[in-house]
Amino acid sequence: MTIKKNEQYTVEFIDLTHEGLGVCKIDNFPIFVENALPQEQATIKIIKVGKNFGYGRIVEHLTTSPNRVAIKDEKGTWVGTMPLQHMTYDTQLVFKQQQVQNVMNKVAQLPQVPVYSTLGATQQIGYRNKAQIPVGQQDGELITGFYRKNSHTLIPMDDFIIQDPEIDQAIITLRQILQQHDIVAYNEAHHSGQLRHIVVRKGVATQQLQIVLVTRQQKLPAMKIIVDSIIQQIPNVVSIVQNINTKRTNVIMGEITKVLYGKDSIKDKLLGYTFNISSQSFYQVNPAQTEVLYQEAIKAAQLKSTDVVIDAYCGIGTIGICLANQVKHVYGVEVVESAIQMARDNAKLNQLTNLTFEVGKAETLMSQWIKAGIKPNVIIVDPPRKGLDSTFIEAAVNVKPRSIVYVSCNPATLARDLKLFASKGYETKYIQPVDMFPQTVHVECVALIEKK
Ligand code: SAH
Repeated sequence: MTIKKNEQYTVEFIDLTHEGLGVCKIDNFPIFVENALPQEQATIKIIKVGKNFGYGRIVEHLTTSPNRVAIKDEKGTWVGTMPLQHMTYDTQLVFKQQQVQNVMNKVAQLPQVPVYSTLGATQQIGYRNKAQIPVGQQDGELITGFYRKNSHTLIPMDDFIIQDPEIDQAIITLRQILQQHDIVAYNEAHHSGQLRHIVVRKGVATQQLQIVLVTRQQKLPAMKIIVDSIIQQIPNVVSIVQNINTKRTNVIMGEITKVLYGKDSIKDKLLGYTFNISSQSFYQVNPAQTEVLYQEAIKAAQLKSTDVVIDAYCGIGTIGICLANQVKHVYGVEVVESAIQMARDNAKLNQLTNLTFEVGKAETLMSQWIKAGIKPNVIIVDPPRKGLDSTFIEAAVNVKPRSIVYVSCNPATLARDLKLFASKGYETKYIQPVDMFPQTVHVECVALIEKK
């Protein structure tokens, strides 16, 4: 049977993809469908047929799974902010654990490594402390929302559901202020217009808000009056900055940041420590679960007061600072210079003197530190999605640390790297998944690696 676009079929779902799409087969040909769970039967319409698989859309559910809950907002499925919103929370946690187990079986070929149950979040909506919202133009008005998946169509959204409601409200008010002053949205196709993105970050423990207006050019009309209106109309704003991104790119922030009000930073607290966070620095987006994640990393490290610890990919120094009082010394490395400045400030802010932070690539600095005679007992890594560089792994095992704690936001690269560690005599004791991003497919993990 040849499967045709726009035809309808009755199917039963048998599995989920790692993106949370339901999988069904028509004559052995896999079709992936949003908002579909295993064991559910449905009528679907084919929307795309590829060589090895296709995509469909639900026309009507014929049966529903007990693991299903009512959808909060179907736009969250279209734009990809809440691809798992139709699953009960327990089902989401099991799904995430299985994602990790799958890559440990297939990518790492280490099926024996225990993958623990995902540590779930108490707060499953309204948890995000940061929003990066593209701005568009519709019928002469500014709109804010998200792009439909795989498209350039901006879907207007006011309630993002997973973001802190105060951030959602700030975006609406900002949009109105900017509209009143005839600010024009950036147009991707023509590389014209003024405003590209609105970024809002909240220090949840301090209630401080930072607003970043990402513009195409340095000049933004009515800047002073816009800033005054923001301060008047949005409570708790302590920092307003303009970020200038002149390039044709889908990277949100450009290199130049201008402070329009306050400083380029806000404060937040984690595990009793205070942190200054600048607009350009990475900071975890779910503070409650960040505390859970960091506690898991610290627990895995089984720290001693004589330990020398490396905090690689340290951002603004959060992990190192949270554990510094339990050890002799912490060395942090991070590639973003302003983040390292923040990290040094943050050590001082918390009256800690046993931390050293350096700008550089972890893979380069690691070998330099070791050449300089630094002997770490524990190495903690928290790399971006692409994972560790093999030269970093090489340098790390050569210095023979007691343990390596790997904090990962991407199970696929984690598994790849654990396989390499295993080939060098370092075995993974366990993996603890932590749910930092309820309603999404993302999963964070802490892996403990020790010498065999
Ligand atoms: N541990 C921190 C940051 C983790 S995010 C926290 O929990 O907040 C990963 C960080 O790695 C980012 O700050 C990024 O700027 C940094 N980074 C990316 N590539 C790097 C490299 N090659 N060497 C060092 N740091 C890098």
